[in-house]
Amino acid sequence: MKKGGIFILSGPSGAGKNAVYEGLRALDPDIVQTVSATTRKPRPGERNGVDYFFITVPEFKRRIDNGEFVEYVTYGGNCYGTLKSEVERLSTLGKTVVLVIEVRGALNIKRMFPQAVSVFIEPPSMEELIRRINKRGDNNEAEIALRLNIAAEEMTYRDKYDYRVVNDDLAVCVNEVYEIIKKENDKDDQH
Ligand code: 5GP
Repeated sequence: MKKGGIFILSGPSGAGKNAVYEGLRALDPDIVQTVSATTRKPRPGERNGVDYFFITVPEFKRRIDNGEFVEYVTYGGNCYGTLKSEVERLSTLGKTVVLVIEVRGALNIKRMFPQAVSVFIEPPSMEELIRRINKRGDNNEAEIALRLNIAAEEMTYRDKYDYRVVNDDLAVCVNEVYEIIKKENDKDDQH
């Protein structure tokens, strides 16, 4: 398979974007993810430089002023941003670059890089999404309520994507997304 495309994996919190990315990576180690910067506190088990670059609000602002982000948003009271340096580093390696980001960032990336392929990962139902967000257990009740509200709004973005894939059975969803990646990377090959 030809590498090198940029793919946006997006959708509401709880849809399973990260699990889908992990599944893709297990299928093909040449699929890599940009590590975003965030001002959110690390959850147990999260590692700096692997899951995110965990930085302070002043540091995030400094990086905005420095023009270091391709896009950034405020989400649930915290800042998240895709670093230019990450996109450039991975693109020059000729890898298939995946951005796992929320919906506003996804649309901004699509505007800036029209050749990027956007995939909306959707839950099988709102009931299931609520169940998954509750099950995470790493957020307090106020955060869960906030995330549920945001998730409902995020669902309204789903028609703005190149592809929509339902994440009911994870393995099936991963395979569907992998097929999209292969198809789109092969298209690029013809140009
Ligand atoms: P979480 O706090 O659950 O790790 O992330 C909250 C939301 O922010 C998720 O939907 C996640 O995909 C998204 N996110 C993570 N990094 C970025 C980023 O760099 N840009 C944007 N726009 N969203 C991000």
